[in-house]
Amino acid sequence: MQTHDGFTRKKLHGQYIITRMSRRILLFIILVGALIGLGYYLYRTMRPGATRGLVVWDVIRSPGAHADLVIEPGARCGNAPFIFPTRGVIGFIWGDSFRPGHIHQGLDIFAGTDVGVTPVIAAYDGYLTRLPDWKSSLIMRIPSDPLRPGRQIWLYYTHLADSNGNSFIVPNFPPGTSEVFVKAGTLLGYQGNYSGDPGNPVGVHLHFSIVADDGMGRFKNELDIDNTYDPSPYFGMALNAATNRDKIPICEQPQGGASQ
Ligand SMILES: [Zn+2]
Repeated sequence: MQTHDGFTRKKLHGQYIITRMSRRILLFIILVGALIGLGYYLYRTMRPGATRGLVVWDVIRSPGAHADLVIEPGARCGNAPFIFPTRGVIGFIWGDSFRPGHIHQGLDIFAGTDVGVTPVIAAYDGYLTRLPDWKSSLIMRIPSDPLRPGRQIWLYYTHLADSNGNSFIVPNFPPGTSEVFVKAGTLLGYQGNYSGDPGNPVGVHLHFSIVADDGMGRFKNELDIDNTYDPSPYFGMALNAATNRDKIPICEQPQGGASQ
């Protein structure tokens, strides 16, 4: 005999109770599954950077997309200390999350061009170092943080090579370069797509981050966001995903070079 809930009512009392329990367990499993699904959906749509990711795809796929969001190299927003280090759209910012357990510790600026054509320049005066095995990266020591005078910080630039590791860093700064003084605005190289895996390159962009000093004159591990600083006040833009969850940052105050 069929009951209203579709379960077969058994004649034996004991079996009927087991059937009722199975239904509760089934409902529980469905509920847990639905919650996991909802959680994953919320993670995918609500995590910081999800909306920015869609714009990044546009910029990579169709050159010229979102021209209104492009920032020019050398641009200074308001009286921020740093100038913009390349040309492009700021696709990902400090604190964005691309996958569970990963937090982005810098800025990703996408040119929407081929590799090796979009210039990367120094955002601030500093001393440039390129370790002997660095194909696509360089770092610049700033002896005195313009926002915290007396504190030493480091500016890290990467993805300046093609997918095979052919470097786009200018010849003035070969591997092994150490402590060469460079003025803000100096050409460092060109945006590339180097990821370390030739079969799986990144979209053409510059990754830029502000890295803490270890107190003994060396830069800390850049891959951990705890070793980096929020770049927002250095560029005068909303570059922290904790407060800017889904907008592409642009300069919202007069651009100019009024203060150096
Ligand atoms: Zn990045």
